[in-house]
Amino acid sequence: MQKGILDTNTLRDDFPILKRKIGGTSEIVYLDNAATTQKPLAVIRSIAEYYMNHNSNIHRAVYDFAEESTRAYELTRDKVAKFINARFVEEIVFTRNTTESLNLLAYSWGRNNIKEGDEILITELEHHSNIVPWQVLARKTGAKLCYVGIDDNGYLDLDYFIQKVETGTVKLVSLSHMSNVLGTIVPIKRIIKSAHKFGIPVIVDGAQSVPHMPVDVQELDCDFLAFSAHKMLGPTGVGILFGKRELIENMDPFLAGGDMIKEVFKNETIYNEVPYKFEAGTPNIADVVGFAAALDYLSEIGMDKIRKHEIELTDYALDCLSSVEQLTVYGPSKAIDRGGVISFNIGDIHPHDLATILNKRGIAIRSGHHCAQVLMERLKVSSTSRASFYIYNTMKDIDKLMYALNEARRIFRL
Ligand code: PMP
Repeated sequence: MQKGILDTNTLRDDFPILKRKIGGTSEIVYLDNAATTQKPLAVIRSIAEYYMNHNSNIHRAVYDFAEESTRAYELTRDKVAKFINARFVEEIVFTRNTTESLNLLAYSWGRNNIKEGDEILITELEHHSNIVPWQVLARKTGAKLCYVGIDDNGYLDLDYFIQKVETGTVKLVSLSHMSNVLGTIVPIKRIIKSAHKFGIPVIVDGAQSVPHMPVDVQELDCDFLAFSAHKMLGPTGVGILFGKRELIENMDPFLAGGDMIKEVFKNETIYNEVPYKFEAGTPNIADVVGFAAALDYLSEIGMDKIRKHEIELTDYALDCLSSVEQLTVYGPSKAIDRGGVISFNIGDIHPHDLATILNKRGIAIRSGHHCAQVLMERLKVSSTSRASFYIYNTMKDIDKLMYALNEARRIFRL
């Protein structure tokens, strides 16, 4: 195996699923990391260990198990705060996923701060999770949803963005740090700075960026950041919402019930402090505990190194793909401007047909609209094929992809 930035040979041994074989092929090539990543043994074992030795509810009972569970759950919160360099651990709220984090904001922040005639500014790059909650809020409040467009290379129209924030009617900006389709990394720091000049808060959808590059919320000065554990080696069912303390302290709860209260009377309730105010009911304790092992795993490698590894893979893949006739790659042509996500189409082969052929050769890619139908409309396609990389992918994986793509072209006589 080619020597790269990461020791993928050793790393891959930590991921049992990568040894699976499909249809008698050699080991699978997993290239659907933008959807979810595989889990290392450390995460799987941590969840099993939790259930075998510590399982109990948290924040309530005083027996040893319960205290251990509470400590482990809260330790993950500390680790998340360090991972994104939050100033206060209270700024980290656990949800189920990025989608729930964004819905929480649309409900708890949006309904108190957005009114008729206001504008909510998002972009054409967004995942449905960062479109539909704002449509619901706009419908409820009489606000208007506006979109920053992209150019033909997948870059945001920053001139339009600046013009828009200067008008005084935009009251919220919410955008993806990295596109899950084009891979475009948006100049988020500049965008936040421009919005803040006009007092506009910015929500960053970090579902694709936090797992793949260093993200420092103090350096970015974002007001909110949403991401999912399952896209960064962690378990499914754990989402994170970072919010500046002064903002989340002033927000109403999203869900109401146990644990989010300080005192309950017949006709009123005093809410708990942040972050507990936003964590009603028994949370996903075991998976939050397991997420700590994922954060440790990533931190040990180093997010800078992960980013470099993905730039190297993306650069190689873009170069290989450019040699395939009738193949269109969407998004920026330079690896440095994008994450390890490459969407493409070959001639008139339907992405589902292509994915089916690749599956027979043990290669898992994604096909479809990638929950980004607004972007599909902009690209004038109904779907694309998408290969997305992570720490365990290698140049050999890309070579196998290329071989299979050329085979598919032969099958379709292109
Ligand atoms: N935003 C982006 C940019 C994403 O890529 C995704 C997942 N594909 C989401 C939001 C939603 O994440 P989840 O399904 O974990 O809520």
